[in-house]
Amino acid sequence: MSAAPILQIEHLSKQFRGLQAMSDVSFTIPAVSITSIIGPNGAGKSTLFNLITGYLPPTAGGIRFQGQLIGGLPTNRIAERGIARAFQIARPFRDLSVFENVRIGALFGKAGPRDVSATTDRALRLAAIAHLAARPASALTVGQLRHLEVARAIATRADLLLADEPCAGLNPTETAAMIEVLREVRASGVTVVLVEHDMPSVMEVSDRVLVLDAGRLIADGLPQDVAQDEKVIAAYLGSPEADDA
Ligand code: ADP
Ligand code: MG
Repeated sequence: MSAAPILQIEHLSKQFRGLQAMSDVSFTIPAVSITSIIGPNGAGKSTLFNLITGYLPPTAGGIRFQGQLIGGLPTNRIAERGIARAFQIARPFRDLSVFENVRIGALFGKAGPRDVSATTDRALRLAAIAHLAARPASALTVGQLRHLEVARAIATRADLLLADEPCAGLNPTETAAMIEVLREVRASGVTVVLVEHDMPSVMEVSDRVLVLDAGRLIADGLPQDVAQDEKVIAAYLGSPEADDA
């Protein structure tokens, strides 16, 4: 794992009217790592992704990607820099093939020259769905759709992939397959930030775990250390881990 940070979050805050959804959160993400963000429902995990991808402007604080401030830029500008998000609920073009759906990712995304076909093929392979390339997206299972969503995001040639609960609702076999894909994505040189509820998966795949609770960062460390952190245990015991899938 390289030590150079790809993402720096600096005193980030987000307020929705009276609600402080994110309070003075700071951390850095080293390049080519897998970092998981965990925390009870309402902790601010999705808000953090919305801030990083430009869906929401921060109320205060900075977001630096590859050393440059991106906080408050529009979503398309941020995508052009090389940040992609894989959504939990994939909304593919149902009548198009898996290949065509992933190809659309390759046509957009990070600025610069690209070989669209090669990029599409590579993303299909990395997401382990090359064998499904000719299928219509409408024929995929929920698990396969998650892979399609990751493939589409990778096809944008992003350097940073934000994956929002890619294993939610998947069975153990499908979960293991998705975790393996995330490992392959990291091995290909992409940095992964994962929001995930499935603790065994988080513990197994993460280089590092960040814990949010009520908009505050309460822990940041190695998976085994975070799992034993008293503040973390209290946050989870105080608020039963509800299933928002
Ligand atoms: P998590 O993803 O960790 O479950 P969220 O980031 O979705 O949490 O939400 C954090 C808090 O911010 C919650 O109280 C949620 O209701 C609130 N929130 C999230 N998005 C909005 C929004 N667009 N407008 C108002 N409140 C929001
Ligand atoms: Mg969420």
